[in-house]
Amino acid sequence: MRCPHCQHEDARVLDTRMPEPQTVKRRRQCSSCGFRFSTMERPVREEISVLKRSGRMEEFDRQKISASVQCALKKGNRRLEEVEALVEEILQNLFAEKPKCLSSQKIGEEVLRSLRRFDRLAYARYLSVHRTFADLKEFQRQIGESHGDTF
Ligand SMILES: [Zn+2]
Repeated sequence: MRCPHCQHEDARVLDTRMPEPQTVKRRRQCSSCGFRFSTMERPVREEISVLKRSGRMEEFDRQKISASVQCALKKGNRRLEEVEALVEEILQNLFAEKPKCLSSQKIGEEVLRSLRRFDRLAYARYLSVHRTFADLKEFQRQIGESHGDTF
C-alpha cells in the first residue's frame, strides 16, 4: 500500500478491525515519513449491472438498496446493525447465483421478500412506493398470496 503522503511503497499495519461483518479496516503507518492513514477492504460487487424499468443500465449500488430499506422502515426503532444485517441478507440472496446483470424488478422482489418477514408495515410501505398496481397483483400471485389479505 502506497503512502498517500510521500508515495513510499511500504506502509506497516498498526491495527486491524472489522467495523462490519464484511469490512476490514486497517490503520497503517508509512515506514518512510511516518504518515498514518486507514484503508478499508470490502468485497467488490459493482461489476454487476442493473437493468432499469426504463431499459437503461446502471452500476449496482448497495447504497440504494440500503437507503430504500431504511426509508421503508422509517428508521423507526430499528438499530442500524439490524438494518444492515437485513440488507446483507438481501444482497446474499441476490448474488447467490453470481449474476452478471440484475433487473430492478428482481431486486425489488428480493427486498420485499426479506422485508415481509422482517416488518410487515415496512413491507407494505415499500410496496406502495416501488410498485404499480399491476406489479402488486403479479407479485402476490408469485408468492401465492391472493390479493386482499395483505393489508
Ligand atoms: Zn510516507
